[in-house]
Amino acid sequence: MDKSKVALIRCESYDWDEVDKAVRTGINLLGGISNFVKASDRIVIKPNLLYGTIPDKCVNPHPSVFKAVGNLLIESGVDVYYGDSPGFGKCERHMEKAKLKGVADELGIKLADFDNGQPISHKDALLNRRFVIAKGVLDSDGLISLSKLKTHQLTRLTGSVKNQFGCIPGVLKGEYHVKMPDPYDFSAMLIDLNTLIKPRLYIMDAIIAMEGNGPRSGDQKKLNALLFSGDPIALDSVACKIVDIDPEFVPTSKLGEAAGLGTYHYENIEIVGEAVESFIDKSFNIIRKPPSSSKGGRIMRFIRNQVSPRPVIDKVNCDTCGTCVKMCPVDPKAVDWHTGDKTKSPTYKYGRCIRCYCCQELCPKGAITVRNTISGKVIGKLLF
Ligand code: SF4
Ligand code: SF4
Repeated sequence: MDKSKVALIRCESYDWDEVDKAVRTGINLLGGISNFVKASDRIVIKPNLLYGTIPDKCVNPHPSVFKAVGNLLIESGVDVYYGDSPGFGKCERHMEKAKLKGVADELGIKLADFDNGQPISHKDALLNRRFVIAKGVLDSDGLISLSKLKTHQLTRLTGSVKNQFGCIPGVLKGEYHVKMPDPYDFSAMLIDLNTLIKPRLYIMDAIIAMEGNGPRSGDQKKLNALLFSGDPIALDSVACKIVDIDPEFVPTSKLGEAAGLGTYHYENIEIVGEAVESFIDKSFNIIRKPPSSSKGGRIMRFIRNQVSPRPVIDKVNCDTCGTCVKMCPVDPKAVDWHTGDKTKSPTYKYGRCIRCYCCQELCPKGAITVRNTISGKVIGKLLF
């Protein structure tokens, strides 16, 4: 069996010349851009937007990386578009904030429609046979997935595979959390999205990654790496090695391999470019254990609800903007102004909370963290 190739390139800054050279080197090591696209293809670059934020915050792939990929595609005669569906709001506004729109306008890259969707079926899905996918994706010949290495509460790491969640437009994404609250079901749905959309090439910006309270409010961590592959499972697995987490703790790894999307086993991955050992950062702040399943009967679900790590609001940092309330996908809402006083921070009713962590993910002030309760630590150790 052929090994999956992952190109790993050292890049120590977002300096344009250095990034451009690194992107060209990485893609050339995989056989060149013509291995993935052909002239006149309509290709969408899909950066991981989540929420458009200034590049210094490292929430989105850096504009230099986006520009280098865009340039390469334009040189190849490709009709280039870009887009993503953020956590909420319109794509273009977030692209502007992330400084990606400025680059796109400069290069003549057009905005694809990620605000509207179209239903599509996926008969070979592991779990989810019907999706609503952004029109811009369906109108294209292929996608280049441009992710950022960041921590994520539900899937541990957000990278190549998770990036395609943004192909589901707008608030519809919340419905998938409600339909699939179990992290393994949610991950199976992510694999289904990838086998449906089949991005041509996956690129990860890990020059400066995000650790801790990611994917929006974590801390920056310089890893000096750009990764490239046609296999998203292998790429995420190499990213796991860099941040020293067992790839089996990232639920999309096993599910993705079972679905034939790729391999997470290091013996089946060929790393070209630089040796991974020189990038490994054992101090990277990431949860090094698998997420717990929320499946089971009512009693088990009740116990898990009591012991699962909970989102908690730090009232000092909260400015009562209400984003968490707006984004909570359950009905009735688990986080809300239960006291009726909107001048104070919202509060939680944990019995309703499905632990999707959308509130923590999207809080603009980084005021929400996910914490273990004392009883959770004790009971969790005994039962799970
Ligand atoms: S999103 Fe964050 S800052 Fe806004 S109300 Fe919720 S906790 Fe407070
Ligand atoms: S409170 Fe937060 S973690 Fe719980 S369901 Fe709502 S958004 Fe998800």
